Amino acid sequence: MKLTFLLTLLFFVVPIIPASAQNATAVPSKGYAKFDNDGKFAPYEFKRHPVGDNDVLIKILYAGICHSDLHHARAEWRDETYPMVPGHEIAGQVVQAGKNVTKFKVGDYAGVGCLVNSCGKCEYCLKGEEQYCEKRVLTYASHDIFHNNELTQGGYSNNLVVSEKFAIKVPKNAQIEKVAPLLCAGITTYSPLKFTHVKKGDQVAVAGFGGLGHMAVQYAIALGAKVTVFDITEEKRQDALKMGAVKYVNVNNPKELEGLVSSFRVILSTIPAKYDPMLYVRMLKMDGELVILGVPAKENSPSVNVSSLVFASRRKVYGSQIGGIRETQEMLDYSVAHNIYPRVEVIPVQKIDDAYQKVAAGEVKFRYVIDMSTLK
Ligand code: NDP
Ligand code: ZN
Repeated sequence: MKLTFLLTLLFFVVPIIPASAQNATAVPSKGYAKFDNDGKFAPYEFKRHPVGDNDVLIKILYAGICHSDLHHARAEWRDETYPMVPGHEIAGQVVQAGKNVTKFKVGDYAGVGCLVNSCGKCEYCLKGEEQYCEKRVLTYASHDIFHNNELTQGGYSNNLVVSEKFAIKVPKNAQIEKVAPLLCAGITTYSPLKFTHVKKGDQVAVAGFGGLGHMAVQYAIALGAKVTVFDITEEKRQDALKMGAVKYVNVNNPKELEGLVSSFRVILSTIPAKYDPMLYVRMLKMDGELVILGVPAKENSPSVNVSSLVFASRRKVYGSQIGGIRETQEMLDYSVAHNIYPRVEVIPVQKIDDAYQKVAAGEVKFRYVIDMSTLK
């Protein structure tokens, strides 16, 4: 009697739950969060939106620590909302794929950078430059208008739900513990070297030889450029020269700056602190381009004197943000094929606070990557 009742129940109840609804449960997630701008990181449990038909669920293996994470977590750019789980340099493995997903299957490596959504219809999205879409959703510290305005949480966590469109395919042969920083430091420097058409023999300079800077140097050299590096320390001189830079300039030593006026066709500035951009404008050749990538804290924001710009004559200064999804895939494939990776130091989650202090003090060579298997 009991068995008949159960079978009847199963027959009537199970089929009326649509397949999509069976998956429509929020995904439990845990990570390391900041709870205010000057406190320490601590474990934090939260929920991510359900895995939709076009989404993948990624188990996060590694997350890079970008200097932007410090700016965000410490509210150096703007007021922020907490708890905040930073992290937009993410490498992991697909553990679930929605029914419409074609790019990935369970077990594939996947990467996620600074973007998790955009409108898909504006002129920037149609060009594949989703990072400039007005409705773009950042991987963390952003309100996701496509998912009930939920506050996005980043990669210092065990998993992530993202539309397959914003997940980057990572080849099987990639050195996975070094992949995460490519998703931000890699694309942010690869993109301007491509759109300024850097080629063999070009004189290129990279100002700020940190996480972004050391990727810029490697890409510029791979493209055949002669690369000069500017930084404020002696500690990195040998690293730059070993990496193939033709010259290293410690800007704290004015003598080393002599003779460099009108020298470079392209300069990428990744400096996250106060500096004088005109120092670099003057080192551009005519029609040369200073591409600003570094975004210092708001109280340290450098400014450019317009009169100086006029007298510098036809030297261009502009900013650039990360890169679009198509180009991020191109960068990742290029990096793996050319064996271009960041130099990383892998740390457990418990060391994030310590790592932040060292990044702020310029004591990392060149990127910390958090091993997410250390999150218990
Ligand atoms: P890092 O801290 O890893 O590197 C910054 C480097 O700049 C360090 O080597 C530092 O030297 C050096 N530096 C500091 N002050 C000067 C100076 N006055 N002149 C020359 N070099 C200097 O940071 P990241 O590479 O991770 O990030 C750099 C900046 O780029 C940040 O502001 C970040 O927010 C921004 N960013 C922007 C993106 C974009 O889309 N445009 C994307 C990602 C990041 P030392 O180590 O000796 O202190
Ligand atoms: Zn970043």
